[in-house]
Amino acid sequence: MVCAEQAVGLVAPLSGVAEPTSHQVGLVLGRGADMALIVQKYGGTSVGDVERIQRVARRVATSLESGHQVIVVVSAIGGETDRLDALGRQMAVHPDAQEMDALLAAGEQISSALLAMGLMALGHRARSYLAHQIPMHTDAQHQCARIEKIETAPLMASVAAGVTPVVAGFQGLSEAGRITTLGRGGSDTTAVALAATVAADECQICTDVDGVYTADPRIVRNARRLARITFEEMLELASLGSKVLHPRSVEFAGKYNVPLRVLSTFKPGEGTLITMENELMEEPIVSGVAYARNEAKITMSGVPDVPGVASKIIGPVGRAQIEVDMIVQNTAADGLADFTFTVGRKDYDATLELLKPVCDSLSARALSGDNRIAKVSVVGVGMRSHAGVAARLFDAMAAENINIQMISTSEIKVSVVVDERYLELAVRSLHSAFGLGEPSAGEREGSPLA
Ligand code: ASP
Ligand code: MG
Repeated sequence: MVCAEQAVGLVAPLSGVAEPTSHQVGLVLGRGADMALIVQKYGGTSVGDVERIQRVARRVATSLESGHQVIVVVSAIGGETDRLDALGRQMAVHPDAQEMDALLAAGEQISSALLAMGLMALGHRARSYLAHQIPMHTDAQHQCARIEKIETAPLMASVAAGVTPVVAGFQGLSEAGRITTLGRGGSDTTAVALAATVAADECQICTDVDGVYTADPRIVRNARRLARITFEEMLELASLGSKVLHPRSVEFAGKYNVPLRVLSTFKPGEGTLITMENELMEEPIVSGVAYARNEAKITMSGVPDVPGVASKIIGPVGRAQIEVDMIVQNTAADGLADFTFTVGRKDYDATLELLKPVCDSLSARALSGDNRIAKVSVVGVGMRSHAGVAARLFDAMAAENINIQMISTSEIKVSVVVDERYLELAVRSLHSAFGLGEPSAGEREGSPLA
């Protein structure tokens, strides 16, 4: 299940954690170069089997041996949450949400215990922690719960005593004492919320990619790893389809100014640091190109141009919990307008079904759709101070003869909908139109930030 509310603006305030004051912005408040408090999160691929868990244990041990304090957060062994989910779905068509949470949370219980054992085998003291043992309090929205408060005393006492906590990600505890989960991919959010609460110097998301790239390297051969990116850009990229981080974790990190680093578990490297914007930072106009393949668009043409029509069309879609992304209505001619919007491809058929009666009741001319579209976006904080980004994007699409079907913009992004067949071409041409294959000025000069 995918939480519908992974969108911007829905992170609950963490109780007991001060929002950063302006003087902290852009600074990393370290405990001195020789000792830092680091939250390290390892994803499903990183803890994919016993041998990998042993490698992760060695990696954590290396951080401990260089004098750092570490709190580890783990995901379930790769594929395990899917396996448990499938088991639950064999028991019932609509399995009980509380029992699904009890079932799915089991994956992280296994990996946290195994990693604690792995650390012990290397001569380090360690202890696994499930959500109720911390406790990590959430609301009661099962399968999509939000973290409300994390008790830090037991974890920090453990750290201070030299016993490294290995926290089961993704799970929480409701007020009623039930196990909750944060939505698929939610252990990133566990790690960031924990880092915010204990005021960690850095939250490291250790994963199977070595950082955030200017575009998907599987599509663009000369895509580059970004040394830094801002929270806002990362949030746009995460929401626009880049799968590197759980969007809610980025939002948390931005809100509480947690320095967040994405890096490879098994390859050495600095990864990508996600930080506040600051004046010293090299600001390319566009930092990255993102895409989402699984989109569909629906058009109701010839709708009356009178108040209430948009609400009659989008209302039933929203009530069916279907997420609508872009919406475009053209100017009316003869008192009639065309209304077009996009939904996820999985919701295409259901949305068309829902709107058939609406089309009849509005006496609209026709209801049509296309479920072979894709969305391509360019993102960058530098857009705020530069004009002409949209024009450059349109030029690039024109040069490749790619028809733009819909357009939407925000302060730091421009998105277009194109025929799915041209997705890869569009991504590649935008990557080169915005010069993303070239090293930035900061990198050429050997940026101290890299
Ligand atoms: N194990 C959970 C999942 O597969 C949580 C996570 O990996 O972040 O969604
Ligand atoms: Mg994940």
